[in-house]
Amino acid sequence: MTFNDLKLSAPLLKAVSEAGYETPSPIQASAIPPVLEGRDLMGCAQTGTGKTAAFALPMLDRLSAAAPRKKGAVRALILTPTRELAQQIYDNFVLYGKKLPVYPTVIFGGVNQQGQVNALHRGADVVIACPGRLWDLMNQGFVHLDKVETFVLDEADRMLDMGFIHDVTRLLDRMDKRKNLGLFSATISREVMDIAWVYQRDAEEVTVREDEQNKPDIKQFRMDVSFDGKAEAIAKI
Ligand code: AMP
Repeated sequence: MTFNDLKLSAPLLKAVSEAGYETPSPIQASAIPPVLEGRDLMGCAQTGTGKTAAFALPMLDRLSAAAPRKKGAVRALILTPTRELAQQIYDNFVLYGKKLPVYPTVIFGGVNQQGQVNALHRGADVVIACPGRLWDLMNQGFVHLDKVETFVLDEADRMLDMGFIHDVTRLLDRMDKRKNLGLFSATISREVMDIAWVYQRDAEEVTVREDEQNKPDIKQFRMDVSFDGKAEAIAKI
């Protein structure tokens, strides 16, 4: 299978090819077609299997194909437990969506909120957020979720283990216009099942175990450098 077979739009195919991806990973091959059709997805997959592109590519395709209901409104929300993951997902959205009129932004705690507030004022279609700072900004009136069409809960089991279940269900209850929900989890715990049961409809289920075969084709290199030479070596790369 190739990315062309997945019927993604031309700008996305170009971005994927420029990112150096040759073939879709198993989770991408299974998840992209149903998500492009607007179906809910339950993906049992770990980080490292290419799951970010599995939801980001069809999401960008759908968002860029339809005009926003209201200019500058948040149309998609991705909730993830840690700021490192939030930043990684944001970087992927920037990479895949660079030729599209879809603007992502990232929200997490531990840093001054002003930059995030400014980005929201400029208008963000896709918000990638950690729950704590998202609630803070919502309570201050900087983020509105009433126009969100698509919601992805990333690393759902970890998020629920960290005690965010009520934050997640309160967020879901606020999204009156939500059309679909993607749930990604390394394990399908009781709480994850409960959320799927209450908030998903006829979800496509995709399970991918993390083994060599299911990992995207990533090339790894090793460089031996002296302790003092690390920064210079990284700068060269
Ligand atoms: P993820 O599981 O989404 O964190 O992705 C793990 C890594 O695989 C990231 O560095 C992606 O850029 C990379 N990746 C995702 N899909 C592919 C693909 N189809 N081919 C090669 N690399 C990929």
